[in-house]
Amino acid sequence: MPRRLHRFAISLGLCASVLLSGWAAHWVSSQVGLADLQATGQHRLDLYATSLEREIGKFAFLPGTLALEGNAVELLVHPDSRVQQQRVNTYLEQLNTRAGTLAIYLLSREGRVLASSNWRRPDSFVGEDLSFRAYFRDALSAGSGRFFGIGTTRGEPGYYLAASLPGEPGGLGVAVIKVGLDELEKSWSTVETPALVSDENGVIILSAVPDWKFATLRPLDEATRRAFDRTLQYNRRALKPLGMHELRRLDDGARLVRIEPDGPQNASIYPTSGPFLAQSRPLPGTPWTLTVLSHSDQVDDLARSWALIGGVGAICPCLIALMLQERRRRLRDRLAAREALQRAHDELERKVEARTADLSTANQALQDEVAERIRAERTLRDAQDELVQAGKLAVIGQLSTGIAHELNQPLAALRTLSGNSVRFLARGDLGTTRDNLTRIGQLVDRMGAITGQLRDFARKSSGQAQAVSLSQALDNALALLDSRLRHSRATVCRQGEAPPVWCDPNRLEQVLVNLLGNALDAMDGQTAPAIELSLDTHESRARLQVRDHGPGISPEALDQLFKPFFTTKPVGRGLGLGLAISAGIVRDFGAASLTAHNHADGGAVFVLELPFRDPPHD
Ligand code: ADP
Repeated sequence: MPRRLHRFAISLGLCASVLLSGWAAHWVSSQVGLADLQATGQHRLDLYATSLEREIGKFAFLPGTLALEGNAVELLVHPDSRVQQQRVNTYLEQLNTRAGTLAIYLLSREGRVLASSNWRRPDSFVGEDLSFRAYFRDALSAGSGRFFGIGTTRGEPGYYLAASLPGEPGGLGVAVIKVGLDELEKSWSTVETPALVSDENGVIILSAVPDWKFATLRPLDEATRRAFDRTLQYNRRALKPLGMHELRRLDDGARLVRIEPDGPQNASIYPTSGPFLAQSRPLPGTPWTLTVLSHSDQVDDLARSWALIGGVGAICPCLIALMLQERRRRLRDRLAAREALQRAHDELERKVEARTADLSTANQALQDEVAERIRAERTLRDAQDELVQAGKLAVIGQLSTGIAHELNQPLAALRTLSGNSVRFLARGDLGTTRDNLTRIGQLVDRMGAITGQLRDFARKSSGQAQAVSLSQALDNALALLDSRLRHSRATVCRQGEAPPVWCDPNRLEQVLVNLLGNALDAMDGQTAPAIELSLDTHESRARLQVRDHGPGISPEALDQLFKPFFTTKPVGRGLGLGLAISAGIVRDFGAASLTAHNHADGGAVFVLELPFRDPPHD
């Protein structure tokens, strides 16, 4: 469902639930309020009825008691007796004063007033014909009569209690008491709700609201109005309708009514118009009805308040439900976001793992390659070492002739000296023998030195760098070549000094032997070959320059001198590996170099530069 439609549905539901719960709260509150009002009204109805009955009841016996009064009976028997009339008048006057009634009077069977408590007043009832009064007729016919009416003489409303005085068949006459209900009415003015008493004609005869008095609860038809005119029951009072309309009938005979504001109105402590709960009950012994009116506005107000509370109360759970729903939605969104994040995270982790696996594979490959390179380098180094050794052996091979010649001489001398020594010993010439043996020892030492040098040179070097005296290395190389130098009558000129260098001494000697050997080769056949050796320091390195006085190096050869198998020497004299191996050895020293050029005055110059052990600091 689209969100807007969803919201509309929720709003509609919210409105419906608010209206429904408001209506329900209104209905329940109305019912409860009306029930309360009904109960209270019923209670008041009972209370007011009881007080009214008591008020009226206390006079009910009074008319009948006149039958016990001899003078009254006598007057009824002799209605023309003035004396008797006066006695009864006085008696009734006293009785009326004591009882607190409005009037007490005695009527003949014909309805004429024979005696009355108000005999002194000019408007006394005495002599009046009241046979038209209903209470008179009722008393004659039924023994008693009750009647509410307005007095015709003074226009004073009152309750008439009439009783037939027994005697002749049909009664001697009728005793009447007129009771005023003013006091009762006054006490009603303080009650909480308006109460009224209506007579059998629906005319309000007693009311807590003064202006309602003599208003009618229901419309009077013409015949009734004419009867009123005839009996003067209400003494021609204008009987206006109260303007009360029944709205609804409730249980217990209660009714919801409305009194229109255009009816008789007066300032009152109660509301006298609007909606009322009307509860009525007949007053026993009278044709009257007591009605208590309870204003139901407060019930309506309360119901409206409850409706409001109900509506608001319905909103609260709805709002809470909405909030919970919103919270659930947000939680759902958050969970979805978290899941998406988790998915992204998992994806990332998967990629990282894949990349790591790739990397580790690449790393492994790299390691393998490095290991392979190391292996290859080691192999190469081994090969180089082998090559160096081979080159060295080649040099030794070249030297071997000279060395053999060098050893032959002392060997021959040894043979001669040892032979001579034997002869001198036989002659007993111990002095000469001792000299010969000394000479033999010296020759053996010389031979040992030659073979020792050769042995040292021939041993396979570890290639380990150490501090080496360049002069010492040069001495060793020259010693190895001593035989050749002497054989070729070459002169060696040395000059300068250099600090110790950092390299493998054995391999350095190999390079030097090579350079010196090549120099001798270049000057082969010359009458005065000369080699110039100069030692110095150049650009923080020790420098050795080997110059010969040979033909020098041809421009073509200069480019290829250090390439393997380049040689200009005849077959069997050179392999072309000497300088290539020497260049390799120098390269391994690190920070070292071997270069060649021709001297300006002729001859070749080979320059060897080597790093110091401790490079001098500026
Ligand atoms: P080989 O001595 O076996 O020829 P080298 O590598 O020692 O191998 O020398 C290569 C070549 O360099 C020699 O054949 C020679 O032509 C040239 N050469 C080396 N030293 C000298 C030098 N001092 N004077 C002239 N040429 C030289």
